[in-house]
Formats: sequence, structure tokens, C-alpha cells
Amino acid sequence: MFRFYVSSENIHENFVELEKEDINHVKNVLRMKAGEHILVCDMQGVDYECILSEITDACVRADIKCSMKNEAELQADITLYQGLPKKDKMELIIQKAVELGATRIVPVMTRYCVTKLDSKKEEKVISRWNTIARSAAKQSQRGIIPQVTPVMKFADAVKEASKCDLAVVAYEKAKGMEYSKKILGDVKGKKNIAVFIGPEGGFSEEEINAAFESGVTAVSLGHRILRTETAGLTILSIIMFGLEEDKEGGQEA
Ligand code: SAM
Repeated sequence: MFRFYVSSENIHENFVELEKEDINHVKNVLRMKAGEHILVCDMQGVDYECILSEITDACVRADIKCSMKNEAELQADITLYQGLPKKDKMELIIQKAVELGATRIVPVMTRYCVTKLDSKKEEKVISRWNTIARSAAKQSQRGIIPQVTPVMKFADAVKEASKCDLAVVAYEKAKGMEYSKKILGDVKGKKNIAVFIGPEGGFSEEEINAAFESGVTAVSLGHRILRTETAGLTILSIIMFGLEEDKEGGQEA
């Protein structure tokens, strides 16, 4: 069943209206007909099974058959605080973070970041990054569209993250794999999780100490130095796997 994303104002009591950008797709690309079933997601975690009822150049309307909780969302909000990487690595990081269940991606300016975004350029880049997040959310059938925020200073990011149930910084000098496994293995029941990843040059000692002072825990991702784009995906995969549950009514593996 084809899936479409609509904003909540397009969802009425008994029917939905698809977004303008999807009208042509339904009518002229997919050549769908009234009576066919589609899935509509409100981008707030609810899916609607609908039956197409009206298809014109100006509007595509579908009657709501039933609604259900989107099952692609993890039971915790995960924010990835990513040290601004070089070139277009951020696009890959965003795409994979969305597939792995991140709720929000915050580009962070740290001491060793090589990339500098002036305000004019930043607006354009953030908008592109949000387009990538939206496309990855659709591809991975997410129930929400994760947000890529404007660039944040490290100190502000740590302050914000300190309010989370769990805040971790991937740190290649962290001691103890067993300790790291314990921290990253204990995510069930956490409602909001913050993950810090350094840029290519890593975090400065001052940044790491500031993180510790704010209650951010350092975890190791093994005895090899991972690229920044690998580290984020690694830790998000571990957290995702610890949070993921069988689908309601799903079979035990
Ligand atoms: N300081 C690193 C070095 O010596 O080359 C450079 C930083 S690494 C390329 C980028 C980021 O990935 C780090 O800041 C850290 O967040 C994460 N990272 C890489 N390898 C890691 C590991 N084995 N354990 C934990 N974090 C790691």
C-alpha cells in the first residue's frame, strides 16, 4: 500500500486531503483510481488506512477507514548531537540517523570543527538537510519527520542534553567496554536519550570535561578509531536495537 505524509490540518474527521505535491504523483504517475487503498501518516505518529474517493487535478481526497499508532517509532526520543563534519558527510549521517530512529539531529559547532557555516549559508544548508531527513523518513516509513535544527554551540548542546534521561558521548579514550556495554545496554524505559559524536578532529579535553560535569557519560565504541560518520551510526544502531520491540500482535522471533 502506498504511503503519503500529510500535515494534521489536512486530516478531517472522516477523510484526508493529500498535499499538493502528491496530487500529480497519485493521478499521473501512479494512475491510481477511486476505491484503491492508501496509507496516510500525520507525521505525529499516527497512520490512517484510507480509501481513495476523489482524484482531480486540484485535489485528492480519501475516506478514512481506520487509524493506528505508527509502529516505526522507538519508545524514546533520541537526539544526535553531531560535531559538524567536513563536506557532505552530514547528508549521509542524517539519512542513516533517520533510518535508525533518531528523533532530532543537532549539528554542533565544536573546537576542532573544520566546517564553518556563515548565517546565510547555514539557512540554505539546514533547509537541505531537512529535505534529506524528510525523504529518509518517508523511505523508512517513519511516523514522524525528524528535525535537523540550526547549528548549536557545544556548551548549549551539553546544557540541553543534561536534561535527558540518558546522555552519552562517544569517546575513543573512554575506559571499559564492559561499562560501555552496560550503559548502552540499559536504554529500555528511557524516554529521551542524547548522543554526542565528535567531528573528524574529535572533542577537545575541555569539551569532554564540560560534558562530564554536566552528567554526560563517556562510552567506548571499541578499540578502533571510527570515522565520525561511522561512530554515530554505530551508537544509534546499538541504542535502536536495545529499544526496539516486537510489533503489537507480532510473533516472537
Ligand atoms: N580523536 C580521534 C582520533 O584520534 O583520530 C578523531 C575523532 S573520531 C574520527 C570522530 C568521533 O568519533 C570521535 O570524536 C568520537 O565521538 C567517535 N569515535 C570514534 N572512534 C570511537 C571509539 N572507538 N569509541 C568511541 N567513540 C569513537
